This record gives sequence, structure tokens and C-alpha cells, in this order.
Amino acid sequence: MSAPLQAIRGMNDLLPQEAAIWRSFSARVEAWLERWGYRYMRMPLVEQTALFRRAIGEATDIVEKEMYSWRDELNGEDLTLRPEGTASCVRAAIEHSLLHDGPKRLWYGGAMYRHERPQKGRYREFFQYGAEALGYPGPDVDAELIVMCVRLWRELGLEDVRLELSTIGSPEERARYRADLVKHLEANVERLDADAKRRLHSNPLRVLDSKNPMVREVVAAAPELASYLGAQSRAHFDGLKELLAVAGIEYAINPRLVRGLDYYNLTVFEFVSERLGAQGTICGGGRYDGLFAQLGGKPAPAVGFALGCERVVALLREAGRVPAVPAPDAYLVHQGEGTLVSAFVLADALRTAGFAVIQHAGGGSFKSQMKKADASGAALALILGEDELRAGEVAVKPLRDARSQFRVARAALAEQLGALLKG
Ligand code: ATP
Ligand code: MG
Repeated sequence: MSAPLQAIRGMNDLLPQEAAIWRSFSARVEAWLERWGYRYMRMPLVEQTALFRRAIGEATDIVEKEMYSWRDELNGEDLTLRPEGTASCVRAAIEHSLLHDGPKRLWYGGAMYRHERPQKGRYREFFQYGAEALGYPGPDVDAELIVMCVRLWRELGLEDVRLELSTIGSPEERARYRADLVKHLEANVERLDADAKRRLHSNPLRVLDSKNPMVREVVAAAPELASYLGAQSRAHFDGLKELLAVAGIEYAINPRLVRGLDYYNLTVFEFVSERLGAQGTICGGGRYDGLFAQLGGKPAPAVGFALGCERVVALLREAGRVPAVPAPDAYLVHQGEGTLVSAFVLADALRTAGFAVIQHAGGGSFKSQMKKADASGAALALILGEDELRAGEVAVKPLRDARSQFRVARAALAEQLGALLKG
């Protein structure tokens, strides 16, 4: 006999006992997205590799080392499992001219794939919800997205989620800053680690978020991007801060916040929880006004965020915000000659009438069937024995309170169940 196969490392099964919390989380997040005016769309899990290379940038962790890419020999295409959703969303918006009649607020959700080292809060298949506001230039929409997230944390009962905010200016401002940053880093090259040295020329801004204490010292003395911003960039940031103040949102300005992806400009933000250890960022986003043009579309401003579901669910679980496991209305047990067929028909009719009914399967004594009924969490056991069958009745036993068992005519059962379950 061969050894049993296992799931791929970093890719998780969602087992039934975990499903309740995920589904309640999803339902609440999706209702919240719709309430804020975002409309659902779905993109494929697989895209051309070139999409992510162009959108995310060559010198990023994702493109350098995290993508699941392969060559589809049948079509001679280079394909990749999506590592994030923004690139696909913008690709689709361009392909289907979604902005032809004005800007759009969109959301999506689903699995993303990154070949990272699996650890708590970091997986190779993980789930995100993303919201993208396409075609809106002003800081009002940046503020909308940020406030919307803060309201979600409160609605979910999550405490201690802090907002980190920054602006990374325009591409031109960043280019000037980058040149001076590289000069500073080069002057201190002997104190940089291998990672920072590698990024020094490919993606020097990423050196800013290094965790290495020695590199951080070098970074602390580096010029700050804020002093390279022109009037327009500053006005955008001021507009955002004003609306956040009006909404009573607290935040910390983090000048080292650059985000891992190349496509951002102006506003960048992250929501971080202290309760998750190293993988504390639960949501990140920003403005990406250049991405439409970068992907060959008509230029359009845009801003969005992506929320990491595993990390938020972990916070919910830790806060004890676990919903009750859904239970059926009734569990139907049957015993004796002819009762199986009759029970089968009865269960079918009750489900058609809208009740959640489990019909016992697999035989067993009356006692063991009743044990299963109890374990199912059902409010009622419905009992169909030879006696009941002959009399055209069903016995009803309330399982969750002290009411005693009684018999009901089959024809009146649906109506009685309705009243019983309400009462
Ligand atoms: P990190 O710095 O943790 O690697 P990131 O900057 O790569 O995050 P984004 O691309 O901004 O992450 O994705 C948005 C969110 O998705 C993150 O804030 C995080 O909550 C979640 N996320 C990202 N990568 C993973 C992963 N491998 N496993 C689980 N969640 C993830
Ligand atoms: Mg990452």
C-alpha cells in the first residue's frame, strides 16, 4: 500500500469545524463592501505571467521569488497563479472598458498564491478581499477606503488595530528622492546587509522597511521622502488627513512605509495588529494612478486595498468572536418495517417546505439514532416507527428544552414545526 497523500505545504484545508467562523466572516465582509457601494466582480485565478511582471514590478519580492509560474506548452503561454488581485482587476477593467461610463467601485475575493516560507499568518495559498475604486482622483476616496476599514474592525469587534499612513509622492518626486537615497546608502554600504545591498540598485525604497537593526540605523539617517514632495502631492495628503480628522480616525505617519509593490503612488496605508506577532499587517493599500497606463490602458487614477482573511479570522478567533455552528431544525429517525421509505418521502417534503432536516442514515438501534439526533444540534427529533406509520403520524421530541414528546398528524407536521421552531 502506498503512503497517503498530503496537502501541499502552506495550503490549508478548511475543515467543517472551522467553516462557521469563515463563513460568518465572509458574509459580514461582503455585506459591508456592498453597503459602502462596492460591486462584486470575479477574475480568473490564472493570468499571463507578463501581467504581474508589468504591474507589480520586476524588483519586488513577489515577482522575484514568490510566483507560481509555468509554461503551458499546449498554447506556448507563460502563466501564473495570481499572487494578488489588483493587477487582474485593472486588466479586466481595461479589457472590458469598465470605466467608459464613469468611475467604478469594485470588490473581489478569493485565493491568492505566493511561494513564501509558510508560518503563522503566512501561507502559500491564502485568501484576500480586495476593494478597488477606479477612476477617482481625489483624496476623498482614499479617505473613504480607510474609514471603511476602520468601521469594519469596529463592527467585527477587533481592538488594537492601528493605522499606519504615508505618502510616497509622484513618480518624479520619488525618482529624485531615490537618487539621493541611493547616494546615502552607497556612502554607508559597509553597514548594509546582503538583502539591502541587493536592493540598493534594484529597488532602494525597499531598504527603508528593512528589519535589520544596523540597516535601520543607516535608514534613520537617510533623507526623508516627505521633503521631496511638491505642492500637489502635499495637497492630496492634506486633503486625506483632513477627512480622517473629521471622521475621528487615529493614525501614525510612518515615513518608512513603502509597501512591497511598485505600482503605488501618493497615499499608502497599512492596518496592523499587535496581537499577531510578526505577521501583524491585516490590510494594506494605496493609490496607483499609473497602473492603467502601465498595463496599456487609458490613464485612470485608482486606489484600493487588500485584506488578509487568515489574519483577520485569527484575530476574531482570539477575541472569542466565534459564531455558533449552524444546526438543523430537525433530525428524523426511523425504525421498523416500511419506515425508511416513508421517512425518505417525509424528509423530502419538509425540506421543500423550507426546513433544514437531516434524515438518519446507516441504520442502528433507536437509542443510537437518538444519540445522533442530539449530537446534530437539531432543535427537534422526529420519530417515525411502525406505530406512527400505521397511525399516519410522527412523534416530535423537543431536544433542547424540557417539553415532552407528542404526536402530530403527518399532514399537519409542516405547520406545527413552523410554530414549534419559532416558539
Ligand atoms: P507581508 O509584508 O506580510 O508579506 P504584503 O505586503 O506582501 O504583506 P499585500 O500584498 O499588501 O501583503 O497583501 C495584503 C494583505 O494580504 C497583507 O496585509 C496580509 O494581511 C495578507 N497576506 C499577504 N501575503 C500573505 C500570505 N502569504 N499569507 C497570508 N496572508 C497574506
Ligand atoms: Mg509579502
